[in-house]
Amino acid sequence: MKLKKNSIKLKIWLYFLLFAVVILCGLWLFQTVFINGYYRNMKQNSIVSGAQTLVEQYASGVVGTTYAKMASVAMENDLAVNIVDLEGRTLFAYSPAGRRYGQELALYFNGFGQSAVKKNAVNLLARQIREQESGALFEYFDNSNGQQMFVYSTLVTDANGDVAVLIVTSQLQPLNETVKILSEQLIYVTVGILGIAFVLSFVIAQKVSRPLEKITEKAAVLSQGNYDVTFEAGGYSEVNQLAHTLNYATSGLKQVEKLRTELISNVSHDLRTPLTMIKAYAEMIRDISGNNEEKRNQHLAVIVEECDRLSDFVQDLLDVSKLQAGVIEYHPMEFNLSELIQKTLGRFDVLKEKQGYTIVLQGRSDVFAYGDEKKIEQALYNLLSNAVNYTGEDKKIFITLEETEQKVRVSIRDTGPGIPKEDLEHIWERYYRVDKEHKRAVAGSGIGLAIVKSVFLLHKTDFGVESEPGHGSTFWFELYKQEPQRGN
Ligand code: ADP
Repeated sequence: MKLKKNSIKLKIWLYFLLFAVVILCGLWLFQTVFINGYYRNMKQNSIVSGAQTLVEQYASGVVGTTYAKMASVAMENDLAVNIVDLEGRTLFAYSPAGRRYGQELALYFNGFGQSAVKKNAVNLLARQIREQESGALFEYFDNSNGQQMFVYSTLVTDANGDVAVLIVTSQLQPLNETVKILSEQLIYVTVGILGIAFVLSFVIAQKVSRPLEKITEKAAVLSQGNYDVTFEAGGYSEVNQLAHTLNYATSGLKQVEKLRTELISNVSHDLRTPLTMIKAYAEMIRDISGNNEEKRNQHLAVIVEECDRLSDFVQDLLDVSKLQAGVIEYHPMEFNLSELIQKTLGRFDVLKEKQGYTIVLQGRSDVFAYGDEKKIEQALYNLLSNAVNYTGEDKKIFITLEETEQKVRVSIRDTGPGIPKEDLEHIWERYYRVDKEHKRAVAGSGIGLAIVKSVFLLHKTDFGVESEPGHGSTFWFELYKQEPQRGN
């Protein structure tokens, strides 16, 4: 298996190892470097808190039981305890096992055993404590046996109010031996943990990266143009999400690819037909009708018509691209919708006269609407062209204008074949055609409805189609009568 420099696998592996190393370093530091300080701190705390308990017990107690309790506190905390009254008399003394009775006290008073001297020393100490208003803690090092200890002294008062001095000592054990043992153990622990971390992190990294690698492999297949790949979900939710998104994108790409192929065939069909006609008629003029003015003019008229059709088609392509790219300008204002419909219908007069189409308009003649008049005209024209193209043998088309308080709804109904349910949501897509063969009374570009959709999306109003095969289709859209208030 190869590990690339920036791979997630390598990173997880390294981070995991780093984590283990940091933890081990922490362990090493605490077990070897900081252990002395930590031990001293702990000893200090235990001597001070032990002394505090002793003071409370001494103050509250009945002599016999109190001494027993004090002895047990001293034992628990490994403390040697002496209570000396201000006359220099020892009232209570306790030494943990293995330590000579009164040893620490003797050291503390620097070896002076006589009570007079001891009395002075105790009084001096009592004065110091009073002045400091707290117990006195200091460290003592005995050169003779290398013994190190903490000594804490404070004043105690018994139940009768008699004051004495409490002197507590706690021995510090040398840690060198312990540190040595710990270090040795730590070497094993370190090797063990590093080994486990190494293997475990490798396995985890493998597990995390595998689904991603699989997806990458599939994506490579996709990038070669194979849209039939499916991305599999892979164990954890982020990858599942990614796989889902990629599957979605793949189906989108597939659709685009299909549309692209259709587009090429549609566009080439739409371009080829007029071009063939133009070529044919141009040749006819050259070879046959060049000198016959009447025929020549007829043929020239066909050429002009076909050129118009071509340029309309190119214009439509441009319009829909612009609309969908969102670069088109939008100038909404109030305009007379009834008049606009009349004007647009006028463009179909030739058809009405020559081919017997009937277009019935229902609605008031002065309905106003709010929108971009030019774009609405274009959408209306496209809808009417479709109705003319697809309506039934009776060649009838019905337009109705319905008003509500705020909106006006325009419906264009034909008596044609209708649209199958499965095609209904697709007809608004660019270049989508239900029937690849299409009859045409009016030039159609195959992008008419895509333009209609873009126009009404731009106006942020509702539009749609109701259609059932065999029962004609009704395309409709709505417009606000006046500029809508914000939030509408
Ligand atoms: P076209 O130039 O093919 O009409 P459109 O984008 O205007 O392109 O329409 C897309 C498709 O929707 C048409 O090919 C047709 O199948 C269907 N369609 C549109 N209008 C109607 C209608 N009034 N009746 C039946 N089918 C329609």
